[in-house]
Parts: sequence; C-alpha cells; structure tokens
Amino acid sequence: MNCDYCENAVVYSRKYSGESLCSDCFSKSIIRKAAKTISKYKMINSGDVVGVAVSGGKDSLSLLHTLKQISLNHNFTLRAITIDEGIPGYRDEALDIVHSFCNKIGIEHGVYSYKNLFGTTLEQSLEMREKEKISSCSICGILRRRAIDFGAKELGVDVVATGHNMDDFIQTFIINLLSGDTNKIGWMSPDPTDKKARRIKPFCEIYENEIVFYAFTNDIPFQSEQCPHMNEGIRTEIRDFLNLLEKNRAGIKNNMFKSILKVSSKLKEETGKKWKICSKCGTECTGETCAVCSTLLNLGIGQP
Ligand SMILES: [Zn+2]
Ligand SMILES: [Zn+2]
Repeated sequence: MNCDYCENAVVYSRKYSGESLCSDCFSKSIIRKAAKTISKYKMINSGDVVGVAVSGGKDSLSLLHTLKQISLNHNFTLRAITIDEGIPGYRDEALDIVHSFCNKIGIEHGVYSYKNLFGTTLEQSLEMREKEKISSCSICGILRRRAIDFGAKELGVDVVATGHNMDDFIQTFIINLLSGDTNKIGWMSPDPTDKKARRIKPFCEIYENEIVFYAFTNDIPFQSEQCPHMNEGIRTEIRDFLNLLEKNRAGIKNNMFKSILKVSSKLKEETGKKWKICSKCGTECTGETCAVCSTLLNLGIGQP
C-alpha cells in the first residue's frame, strides 16, 4: 500500500485522521504539528535561546530532534540541559546517549548534578525524607525543576522546553481533578507568555505513541530502561484507561485535550487573581513560599 501523499510504502496508519503515512511523511507531519503548536501558543519568540530539558528518554530526544529541524528555518537557537540525579547505574547510560546525540546534531549541552547543586544526590535526599510523606518522584521532580532553572540561567536560555506529550498533559489534568487541585488546572494553559519562568511543551498536541514511532523511525537512540524509583501509582492506571478509550474511540484524546484547554482558561481567570510571588525564589505560587522552596526547606536541602 502507498502513502496518502507519495509513492513510498505505508509504515504508519493514523487512526483518528484515517491517514496512511510513509516514514518520511509521518516525520514531516510531527515536525509540522510541533511547529504549529509553537506558533499557536506563541511559545518561542524570534531570537530566543531555547533550552531543551533532555533526560535521554524518547520524548526529550525526539523533541530535540524535532526542534533542530524547525530551527533550520526559524530564528532561534538550541541548548540541551541534562540533570544528573545521581541514581547509580541508571543515569550514566542516559548521559552517554544524550552526549553523543548532541554532538552529532551540533547542540551545546550542559549537565547539572543534584550533588553539585544541592550537596545531595537523589538517593541521599530520599533517606532524609523520613518525616515528609512525599514520593520519590515528587522530590525528584522538585529538585529537577530547580536544577533545570539553574542550568537555563547558566546557558543563557530564554525559554525551557520539555518533552511532555498530549498523554502526559491529559493524565496530569485528571490527577489534578481527582486530587481537587483546581488551581493547578488553571495553570495548565500551554501559553507561556503570562508566566515569569517561561516553560513550553511543544509536543502537548501530539500523542505519546506517535512520539515513540517518531523516535523509532528516525533511529533516535534513547534510554528505554525505567528509573528504578519509578512509582507513578495512579498515573499508570489513568494512562491505561485513556489508551483503552482511545483504542475503541479513535480521537478521544484530541477531544479531551480541547476540553481541558477550555476548562483551564476559565479557571485561570479565577486563580490568576490569587497569584503571589514566592519570597524565596520569585516564581508564581498561591502561598508565601512556592512548593519547590518549601519542600527543599522541609528536607533541609541547600539551594543552588
Ligand atoms: Zn509519504
Ligand atoms: Zn520559591
């Protein structure tokens, strides 16, 4: 069978649109989609230095690859930011993959370790959390956010891009919904312009399985081994549930994404008024101190 757009053989059928695509046309469609998302939500300004948070997994390396293609005919430059959590036996493989990939496509790459920034590795900080009822992924996420901000400053980055895809976005919405955290839903808008620390998710309108296929069909090497601390609990259940719905009703994730944007913008009108500035770091939050600063404080971890 031939591709809908050229003479090449079909390698991917996009169920929700009914398209049959060859490898080349599939990859181009992903690049086009990401470029469209970027311009629709004004994610990147002309002349920006974009720092891509690259973990070494499929999403972040595919994002770097995609943004590199887009940058060829747009006015922005790329840097890669990688965080070394100090997880024995896990992070080293990813660091090698990211390092050689960045060299290959000519992107400056900075590695920042928890050990250097906070004086503690993830392993050590997990031992300190006795009194804190907080999961390893939450601690790690908080440390990573601060470490990425630090790396961004060091590399002269204007906006930080992460590889979160549409599936991640919808899962996060449902988690916020189930935990009653409507403030967070109000902050979910993909438009970064009204936030102090600009963060963008250029893949937020692309299905996770398409990112996997993009990495595969472009021979992008990535670390498939999961983090040994991975304990996502409810997120995994929600992922399975959404995939089941999508399997029987192709396009349901696209519909849900659009609904979330509407709900989020309504809630933003309310929560926006309650924003304060963290007294420690200056980012937007609802209390006196932001979640990142207060967790670090409770854990007794030093700040970079
Ligand atoms: Zn084609
Ligand atoms: Zn703060």
